Amino acid sequence: MTTRSQTAGRPMQEHQPVLLRSATVVDTRDGTRHRETDVLVRGATIAEVRPGIDGDGVQGVRVVDARGLYVVPGYNDMHGHPVGQSPRHQTRDLELMLAYGITGFRQMSGSIKLLRDRAAGALDLPESGPALLATPGPLLITPLNAATEEQAVTTVREQYDAGADFIKVAMVTPDVFFAAQAEALRLGLPIVGHLPPGIDVLRASRLGMKSIEHLGPGVGLFACCSPHGAHVEQGAGGGPKVKVPPFKLPFMEQIMGRVVKKLVLNPINRTNPEDVERLRRATDSFDDDLARKLAERFIEDGTWQVPTLIRVKTQQLCDDPDFAEDPALRYMDAGTLKSWKKATAKFTEFSAETRATFRTMYDQQLRLTGIFDDAGVPMLAGSDCSGAAWVVPGRSLHREFDELASAGVSALRVLQMATLRAAEFLGSTATMGTVEPGKNADLVLLEADPVESVQNLHRVAGVVRAGRHYPAADLTVLKERAAAQA
Ligand SMILES: [Zn+2]
Repeated sequence: MTTRSQTAGRPMQEHQPVLLRSATVVDTRDGTRHRETDVLVRGATIAEVRPGIDGDGVQGVRVVDARGLYVVPGYNDMHGHPVGQSPRHQTRDLELMLAYGITGFRQMSGSIKLLRDRAAGALDLPESGPALLATPGPLLITPLNAATEEQAVTTVREQYDAGADFIKVAMVTPDVFFAAQAEALRLGLPIVGHLPPGIDVLRASRLGMKSIEHLGPGVGLFACCSPHGAHVEQGAGGGPKVKVPPFKLPFMEQIMGRVVKKLVLNPINRTNPEDVERLRRATDSFDDDLARKLAERFIEDGTWQVPTLIRVKTQQLCDDPDFAEDPALRYMDAGTLKSWKKATAKFTEFSAETRATFRTMYDQQLRLTGIFDDAGVPMLAGSDCSGAAWVVPGRSLHREFDELASAGVSALRVLQMATLRAAEFLGSTATMGTVEPGKNADLVLLEADPVESVQNLHRVAGVVRAGRHYPAADLTVLKERAAAQA
């Protein structure tokens, strides 16, 4: 997936060259650690990576003593929604992401305005934030902008014309889904997103679904892992779940914007008893062999998975005190926290039995992720930050790392999901994914060996973003700036 427009914001300022001296550089391909290695950054590009670079020959160089530190490519949150909020929250979230070592993100919802602004170089993203790697136009939602097959085709074409990098499906009926998919593929535009219940997962994968988000979400993938697949899904996909108010555009878009904003806090709050029954049927009959068959199928089809386990977990275990006690909540404003608490209160209205089903479902989502990883299904790290309850931007990707580790994914694979795999997915291995000359100077410096333990991926001691070095103190400043606004 190549970004169709490279103008992702205002032009980056040129910074003095940076020499990271005596670091251990980690090769993300196989985990090899190259000790006592220097990394020279000029402009926004890595110029040299080798032992013994003579800094004296580089005019105006800033030498950073990197002894004892590990250098890896900057992390990429491959599922997020930081752009399109109020300017204040957008800047806060992007700076928080950088403070946690995130130098790139895949924006997972957009608008025609966003696409036009990007094309005009008028996005106004902060320099001290990650790069916008790719973005769609508006999400496809039945009945909002994809009520019928014809309308879905028109919507896909509009987004293509406005320069969308891909089409993101959110909530659509099966007919609409396959019409949108056919049109996107005809235009050569990747299609990604959700496979709402009732959509044939295997058919969508075979026809060309570039990435499936949140392991579905819901029951779809699980129906493929049950010997009673059709029975599991019975009654699903009966119709759209979003009610359209009787207003004309553009009022309807504004109103829908508010509806969607509330809905995304915790979509599981809208689960009805029939949905729960379907989930129960799925969890009761989960079959490892069928899960492995599904994995093989995704590998064959080249269908990527972005499990966003932290997003799935914060939905299904919404009142887990671990979330409400996260020290990183201090970076969030009172209004946001209030909405998260409200969503949690709503969640607690579910019966104990229903909540037990959600918990079992989460255990199986971990299990499924582990099976996918073992089989070699291509996967990406994403957190679904900005909009989701208890998902604190930046911090959330680290929580995703921990969940992936719980699923049995090794530290190196987790690192790969956030770096090299992201580059492969985007078709950007020429500029991203490894610490090598010619690549973008987007780097993370770590205090401990990231190949040894996922815990060490959290130990960010510095970041290089577009050639500018942010020592730990600068990252603290970014975090405190968010806290001061809260
Ligand atoms: Zn999302």
